[in-house]
Amino acid sequence: MLDPFGRDISYLRVSVTDRCDFRCVYCMSEDTTFLPKADLLSLEEMDRLCAVFIAKGVRKLRLTGGEPLVRKNMIWLVERLGRHLKTGALDELTLTTNGSQLARHADALAAAGIKRVNVSLDTLDEAKFRRITRWGRLDQVLDGIAAAQLAGLKIKLNMVALRGENEDEIESMIAWAHARDMELTLIETMPMGDVADRVERYLPLSLVRSRLERRWTLIDLPDKTGGPARYVRIAETGGRVGFITPMTHNFCESCNRVRLTCTGTLYMCLGQEDAADLRRPLRASPDDGLVSAAIDEAIGRKPKGHDFIIDRRHRGPSIGRPMSLTGG
Ligand code: SAM
Ligand code: SF4
Repeated sequence: MLDPFGRDISYLRVSVTDRCDFRCVYCMSEDTTFLPKADLLSLEEMDRLCAVFIAKGVRKLRLTGGEPLVRKNMIWLVERLGRHLKTGALDELTLTTNGSQLARHADALAAAGIKRVNVSLDTLDEAKFRRITRWGRLDQVLDGIAAAQLAGLKIKLNMVALRGENEDEIESMIAWAHARDMELTLIETMPMGDVADRVERYLPLSLVRSRLERRWTLIDLPDKTGGPARYVRIAETGGRVGFITPMTHNFCESCNRVRLTCTGTLYMCLGQEDAADLRRPLRASPDDGLVSAAIDEAIGRKPKGHDFIIDRRHRGPSIGRPMSLTGG
């Protein structure tokens, strides 16, 4: 699938639910209203839609949310999608999770063919963890990470860098992760969803990088993951650190991704409102022709890039929908 700018679209992110057992302060408000269950695609429909994307050239698929592991029978979907790994149609099936349910599911995920999971972890301090996630328990997540490693899954930690909240822990978390054979990727907060404190909490990663350079030797690595992160290796620890910098560095020129919500809406860009409804063509016919044509039409509208802005004149979200709907 080639978009109008010649980018080969080979990476699909699927948000399987907008629900979550956490309420991270930068992601959703405490009283978030979720979509009516009747609007959601069934897991069978998601499986069918993913198969259409794979037939059209998607090679990498990431399941996300909301919290993907709170969706009922989620493992069934992972196992179904795992068949595309066996046939070689898919190179990689991965998951982004808050880790709260990972201890229960790690073995099943590994058995289905998942090799790597991204776990979001912004702090190792119990009280701070509770403050950031509102409803989360750090020990559950740490147990989940341990279980996943025991099951043979490679772990990459995602840490949202928050000014005045966890910025003093960035170095110690990198050291902690690298000592346990995990990568860590830092993320700048993006102006999505209606949450308070965005301007105050925004921490540019250019600043973080220069702080890290005072302590460690950072070696730039060529980007080979097909994701938006830039990577460095830290000579002293041997581990990798990623930087996702939507605010300070626009990475759109190499974007190979599209995102499907749990209602079957396809967003061609995380930072733009334009979207295509795939649920209607999917349900209109048992044949995949209609939905395949709708996907082609949508890819033909993929925009060149996003233009997120956070400053004191732009306090509101650039994008009204929260990350949990489109899937981070
Ligand atoms: N619930 C899962 C989790 O937390 O990993 C998957 C979905 S979550 C929306 C995916 C990622 O998006 C997480 O790493 C989270 O920290 C990040 N995220 C959520 N809202 C964000 C925002 N406004 N800016 C930057 N990252 C955000
Ligand atoms: Fe839930 Fe993930 Fe959003 Fe936190 S970032 S509220 S864990 S969806």
